Amino acid sequence: MPEAARYRKVDLHTHSTRSDGHFSPSELVDLAVEQNVSLFALTDHDTLDGLPEARLRAAEHGLSFINGVELSTQWNGIPLHMVALNFSADNSALLSIVKGNQVIRLDRARRIADLLMKQGLPDLFDEAVALAGDSQLGRPHFAALLVEKGFVKDANKAFDRYLGNKKLGQLRDVWPELEQVLTALAGQNMALVLAHPKRYPLTVTKLKRLLSDFKKWGGTGIEIVSGNERPDSVRLLERLSRAFDLKASVGSDYHGPFGPWMQVGKFTQIHESEVDLVWQAWS
Ligand code: AMP
Ligand code: MN
Ligand code: MN
Ligand code: MN
Repeated sequence: MPEAARYRKVDLHTHSTRSDGHFSPSELVDLAVEQNVSLFALTDHDTLDGLPEARLRAAEHGLSFINGVELSTQWNGIPLHMVALNFSADNSALLSIVKGNQVIRLDRARRIADLLMKQGLPDLFDEAVALAGDSQLGRPHFAALLVEKGFVKDANKAFDRYLGNKKLGQLRDVWPELEQVLTALAGQNMALVLAHPKRYPLTVTKLKRLLSDFKKWGGTGIEIVSGNERPDSVRLLERLSRAFDLKASVGSDYHGPFGPWMQVGKFTQIHESEVDLVWQAWS
């Protein structure tokens, strides 16, 4: 591989105000430029809405921009995120999955509000919808309301106490099956990357089973660095990337200046690694 491809500063996982990020697509691109990122993707949850604005701003800066989206799916009842990258924004298979997930988001929000009411909280649905505006509505919007109204100290507590996957146990099985999403998108001229593989409640044995399914159904890569991944996790994910013939992707998963997120483009880069990179063939 050319040295230049290895040493580029790459960030292929970020969020804007079009989903649950703090900055607009343009502001996010400006931040990436400040951080000397040279290849950048916007990957909002279940929407392509921010891509045109981000692409335009990136072009103004001469920054290489990659279309991206983080799709919500599930595998064996476990909510799972995958990042689709470098697609054409009019791809009908992708648009159909994105639209489906947007319908699910609204329906799920109603059910989340109902579950919170059962725990004695007020009905937050209308306010959550209003807060999201034309962004994709998600649990972070409920978390923000719970903080604002003083029910919890911060978003993390809101997830601990009310919104985490365990707390919303009755909301299992809302997302489309990983198999369905992957087979619909496989061969459609895009990279299909498992997001933050170490963030799921999976043993290494189960993670290997997931990667085997992911590859079998047409997945093409895994994130070996996502945010502040621990070095030993990165090593493990590199090994798994090679073992399952899945290319390596990297990203900050940046959402904004608050919370546990890494800064755009600021995370362990993978200079020494021997893995194949998802972006190698792109430019
Ligand atoms: P949703 O897309 O509605 O399922 O919400 C998931 C999003 O919630 C993730 O993408 C994160 O941005 C955010 N999130 C998850 N866990 C936490 C946490 N403990 N504290 C703050 N935000 C969180
Ligand atoms: Mn998020
Ligand atoms: Mn995610
Ligand atoms: Mn993300």
